[in-house]
Amino acid sequence: MLKDTAVLEAIRLEQQRQEEHIELIASENFVSEAILRLQGSVLTNKYAEGYPGKRYYSGCEHVDVVETLAIERVKQLFHAQYANVQPHSGSQANMAAIRALIKPGDKILGLGLSDGGHLTHGYKLSFSGMDYVGTTYGVDRETETLNYDQILEIAKREQPQLIIAGASAYPRVIDFQKFREIADAVGAKLLVDMAHIAGLIAAGVHPNPMPYAHAVTSTTHKTLRGPRGGIILTNDPDLAKKIDKEVFPGIQGGPLMHVIAAKATAFYEALDPSFITYQQQVVKNAQALANKLQSLGYRIVSGGTDNHLMLVDVKASIGMTGKQAADILSSVNITCNKNNIPFDPEKPMVTSGIRLGTPAVTTRGLIESDIEQVAILMDKALRGYQNLEVLNEVKESVISLMNRFPIYQSL
Ligand code: PLP
Repeated sequence: MLKDTAVLEAIRLEQQRQEEHIELIASENFVSEAILRLQGSVLTNKYAEGYPGKRYYSGCEHVDVVETLAIERVKQLFHAQYANVQPHSGSQANMAAIRALIKPGDKILGLGLSDGGHLTHGYKLSFSGMDYVGTTYGVDRETETLNYDQILEIAKREQPQLIIAGASAYPRVIDFQKFREIADAVGAKLLVDMAHIAGLIAAGVHPNPMPYAHAVTSTTHKTLRGPRGGIILTNDPDLAKKIDKEVFPGIQGGPLMHVIAAKATAFYEALDPSFITYQQQVVKNAQALANKLQSLGYRIVSGGTDNHLMLVDVKASIGMTGKQAADILSSVNITCNKNNIPFDPEKPMVTSGIRLGTPAVTTRGLIESDIEQVAILMDKALRGYQNLEVLNEVKESVISLMNRFPIYQSL
């Protein structure tokens, strides 16, 4: 058998990087060894265009079992009546759902990018702003949180056909009932993209959008801690049929059955009571990190967090751009991303803030006391970055802290 040493070596180094870094990217997580293995299973060999019981290829009896398990489990997890588990990614889930809900040229009202929204919610460089007319709501200047009266006013002015609720960088609870009332007031459909908070919702740590949204999309790889991929849920039987058609043959061909198997197992893990404890700890850790950073003199956007992430205004706190801060932290093995904050005068490649999240470190087993240690190390690096000795010291402390929390025991 040929051995591709170049790729294997890069993977070995990536595994070492993951083990030796503190992962604070809010959209990342570490899957279980079971989920990791399923993605390398023989299911990758199988073509299965269509849906369970209605395939275009022979030999689908076993993958039908797998996809049906994934569908039934995700329905149970989110109290949904219909589910499509085939989208290859969150963006494709959004594309299929939007196509099922409105027609090209219709208007979408979504959260603006710099206020925490996602590209697929109507941004001009995404299909959602090219095939549809994208308009935005934002957060309140004072509170830096969603102001539902303001959103209603914008909806009345813009008259969108679709409102999208959901975010990539919003640290507070989202009121889906209010969004539905706004959508109903202007005759729009409501799509909730719960990608970031799906794990919290599954565990009951954040309210569930299913009773209010016409359709709900999600990624499976963020707080939900599954393989990379997407899902679409709805309680409307006619819309469910449209969604299935939009996923296949609308925008995709053969489903990734090895990934769907991994999704099925991720939902199985998320249905276990231990997942509730995990998600509660994710939030406790996020709040511990926000509190400690505040006590060290950092301004946290909106004053804190209710979920798994927070935005730190490094510009106002220590006079640094988000890019500078993220680069300094990266040099001491702390990984996060620069992020625009609401009303940010800086460009997206520079930014005034960084986004921090606790799903990955919580999976490794860190609790509040460890997280406070992380905040102290971050502060030490950011304030002492001009001193190489300080940076080396912090990096060593980071590695020895993470050595206490191995990710994969048997790889
Ligand atoms: N929706 C939200 C809210 C996201 O934050 C993201 C990814 O960051 C996506 C959708 C897109 O997911 P993917 O990267 O799998 O296309």
